[in-house]
Amino acid sequence: MEYVMCGIAGAIGVPDAAYTVSLMLKALQHRGQEAAGIVSSHDGQFLRRRGWGLVDEVFAHVNIKQELPGQSAIGHVRYQTAGKSDQKSLQEIQPFRGQSQHGHLAIAVNGNLTNYQPLRDALLQKGATLQSHSDSELFMPLVSLSRRPSSWERLAEAVLLTEGASSVLLLDDQGLHAAVDPFGFRPLVWASYQDGWLFASETSAFDIFSVAKSAAIKPGHVVTATKDLVEERCFAWSKTTRQCSFCHVYFNRPDSVVFGQSSYLVRERLGRNLAAEAPAAADLVLAVPDSSNVMALAYAQALGVPFSFGLIRSHYMGRTFITPKQEARELGVRLKLNAVRALIAGKRVVVVDDSLVRGTTARRISQMLRDAGATEVHMRLASPPVTHPCRWGIDTPKRQQLLAARVDSADMARHLGVDSLGYLSRAGLLAAMNDPNGEQHCTSCFTGIHPTEGLPKPTSFLP
Ligand code: SF4
Repeated sequence: MEYVMCGIAGAIGVPDAAYTVSLMLKALQHRGQEAAGIVSSHDGQFLRRRGWGLVDEVFAHVNIKQELPGQSAIGHVRYQTAGKSDQKSLQEIQPFRGQSQHGHLAIAVNGNLTNYQPLRDALLQKGATLQSHSDSELFMPLVSLSRRPSSWERLAEAVLLTEGASSVLLLDDQGLHAAVDPFGFRPLVWASYQDGWLFASETSAFDIFSVAKSAAIKPGHVVTATKDLVEERCFAWSKTTRQCSFCHVYFNRPDSVVFGQSSYLVRERLGRNLAAEAPAAADLVLAVPDSSNVMALAYAQALGVPFSFGLIRSHYMGRTFITPKQEARELGVRLKLNAVRALIAGKRVVVVDDSLVRGTTARRISQMLRDAGATEVHMRLASPPVTHPCRWGIDTPKRQQLLAARVDSADMARHLGVDSLGYLSRAGLLAAMNDPNGEQHCTSCFTGIHPTEGLPKPTSFLP
């Protein structure tokens, strides 16, 4: 089995829908850089192009408007987080596509199933055929074997039969259907556009088209859009939701609004809360670009310390945290970041990062700042240390790879080569997301506490 983190996008009732989806996938490229694919529906045919690489690479020689015509399409960018990372078969790349008793269908999923194995075994026993190692592919037989009369019910039933995180786009002969699991782990947003509808993992994908208004698909809801109408239904309800806090800390673009909140404003609050909890006496605040920029600026403003771009990022390198192999990650840090000696030499610097996962980047940065002449290096993290792996889709696969799980907190600063180290508490993180009681957000990778164990089972409203 393999876990994948990703971005998904869809369009219906829009001319050249696949081209529109390709633009949205480019805007979501930060969510997955390993593979990309699009399926469009046209004249009773479901057409697909997919491949390994960035969106621009996969579609470099594809005339999307001609090869993937039609007014409805869905797409996917993939980042593999664990499992058979050397498995480079095209079968692994979404969207999945097939035919069933209900007609054509194509599916793109952002999430991870925690009941993959028993569900897979049960589906194989029922006669399902599977082509990939992806847990997301299970949605194909779940939907196609369902006896429910309508597409939205088949999709909702499939989501309720899975456990874990799932935000799903289903394209079939009736229309485009988008569903989010009752705990709402992964974001999914939608908006009206021209005479149709757009769907995406983040609102930044809509901004290309100057879409004025968008909305989050709520946990346990399904939205069905056809060329003529759109309907939103609640298929399951849970008093407590588990939206991924790491999405705001790191994964989302700061210009996105997800889970109903601006990631930029959440990051500002993270920086301010960090300044209150872990101030540092320094001459200069630096960010680890780009995901920490907003937090570092807010931290500096709160403490009244100058902020500068003393670490420069090469924009031709990917994000190190989501580079699958450790070796590539080590080299990635060296190629990606460099320190500005003219700003740093002779100064006490505090460097703000969004999180501490493996410690690879933090160790390299502290050495880089000392090499650039910093007299003191203090490190501040705008989230609690990551101590446990995420089973719901982010790449923290093994506990022994997490620095905070293997190095004593008292020893951590020495290990990273910094003069002091400070974190944001879980309470500070939750306060930044306007969820002081922790009823809406998952913080499992910071606590090790299972996010849904012990919670009442969501109430299903499926007839
Ligand atoms: S464990 Fe962490 S990364 Fe995974 S869903 Fe929860 S908050 Fe997000």
